[in-house]
Amino acid sequence: MESIQIKDKKFAISITEEQILKEVDRVATEINRDLKDKNPLFLSVLNGSFMFTADLMKRITIPCEISFVKLASYQGISSTGKITEVIGVNEDISGRCVVIVEDIVDTGLTMQRLLETLGTRNPKEIHIASLLVKPEKLQVPLNIKYAAMNIPNDFIVGYGLDYDGLGRNYKDIYTVINE
Ligand code: 5GP
Repeated sequence: MESIQIKDKKFAISITEEQILKEVDRVATEINRDLKDKNPLFLSVLNGSFMFTADLMKRITIPCEISFVKLASYQGISSTGKITEVIGVNEDISGRCVVIVEDIVDTGLTMQRLLETLGTRNPKEIHIASLLVKPEKLQVPLNIKYAAMNIPNDFIVGYGLDYDGLGRNYKDIYTVINE
């Protein structure tokens, strides 16, 4: 499908499944090479990264573990505003090599909070694997060691990413058409 309609928005195909899987392959090769003796714990951030996680993990051939986390955002009473709670980290991550598996890093604020939260649990090292990065939008310095693709500052759906709950099921990535 060259274009799709979701609610009020029209999207055009921008990254095909074939292009995505080529980059996922590359990232997996890098991780297999870099972390082979580290028994990494992959923490997949739901919901958006479920498709990326599945395709990535099929290509990871080193001993490793995988777990799934969710972020719950709520307004705190402190002046810092929004608080992000990480739900589902049941493993003891102290001393472990952790790889966060994310769908997209936009401003980077979500990832920064995730790193802060996980950092308090004394992991040995934390790496970021993100399917997509919007470098122009990044507001905080982040070392995204394993980035599959950089994209422009446009809203996208597909391959796990949604618009208002819809569109996660598409195998390709679509970019919104501004009318
Ligand atoms: P950040 O905190 O980096 O600004 O935002 C990260 C989150 O915003 C992602 O995990 C994702 O849920 C959402 N997001 C950012 N850009 C997009 C986009 O282009 N499409 C979709 N579907 N979600 C996005």
